[in-house]
Order: sequence, then C-alpha cells, then structure tokens
Amino acid sequence: MANKILLEVVTPDRKVVSTEADVVVCPGVEGQFGVLYGHIPFLSALEVGEMYYKDGAKTEYLAVSGGFAEVTGKKVTIVAEAAEFGREIDVERARRALERAKARLAAAKTENIDWARAEAALRRAMVRMKVASR
Ligand code: ATP
Repeated sequence: MANKILLEVVTPDRKVVSTEADVVVCPGVEGQFGVLYGHIPFLSALEVGEMYYKDGAKTEYLAVSGGFAEVTGKKVTIVAEAAEFGREIDVERARRALERAKARLAAAKTENIDWARAEAALRRAMVRMKVASR
C-alpha cells in the first residue's frame, strides 16, 4: 500500500480541510500539478481554479481563489484567499457574480474599468459553477 500524503487547505477565515490523500492535484500558475507521497519539496503560486484530491475511491473537488501551495514529501499545504468544496458553493450567488463581471467587462467599451479585477471575479465565478456541478 502506497503511503498517503497529508493535505491541509486553509484560508484567512477557516481551515477548509485537513485530510490524507493518495494524490492532490492543484492549479499552479505554471500549469496543473499532481503530488504523491514522497514528492520533492517545492512552492508554487496558484491560479484561481479547481483542485482535487483522491483518497481511495473518493475524489473531492474544491474551487480555490489564488494563493500558494507548499509541498513537502509528506504534506501539501494550500493557503488560498478563498476555497470551497462543491457542496458549499451557492450556485445562485456565483451566477450573480458571473453576470456582474460580464456586465463590467462589456462596459469596458465605453467606460474605464478595472479589467484585471473584473476578469478575476469572472474566473472565480466560473470555477465555482464548474466545481459545484461536479
Ligand atoms: P461575491 O461577489 O459573490 O462575493 P467573490 O468572488 O467576490 O463573490 P470572494 O471574495 O472570492 O467572493 O469570497 C469571499 C468569501 O465568500 C469567501 O469566504 C468565499 O469562500 C465565499 N464565497 C464567495 N462566493 C461564494 C459562493 N458562490 N458560494 C459560497 N461561498 C462563496
């Protein structure tokens, strides 16, 4: 039996999960990466995206909003601005956030908007909707 890796996901508000897993897959800024027990230590910034972990037959998905991952041979620690399991996501709220972001981006033709901020909000909402539908 292969060793399991420990996974901890924390945000400024709460400890989202502390568990063991066979594999953890994260949305790194340089691409998605997977971590197994015994991985070489490294640090990566995270995109707004979907992460998941597998433990036996179970796969759990989370939406993560930026932050970073610290990997050691035994543990993955994710420190994210926000993170939610699919079951925690309020889909209607994410849908409203998506509509607001789209409207802001559409207004860019005639107004000065904070493009990066609107795009980041759009991305968070899209990831939340995707993870909620898993
Ligand atoms: P909104 O405009 O709806 O607040 P947002 O993308 O600006 O969305 P964040 O700043 O990323 O929200 O998150 C603020 C807090 O609200 C975090 O704790 C996050 O986990 C939570 N949160 C945001 N959107 C949702 C959602 N759709 N369902 C559940 N929790 C959410």
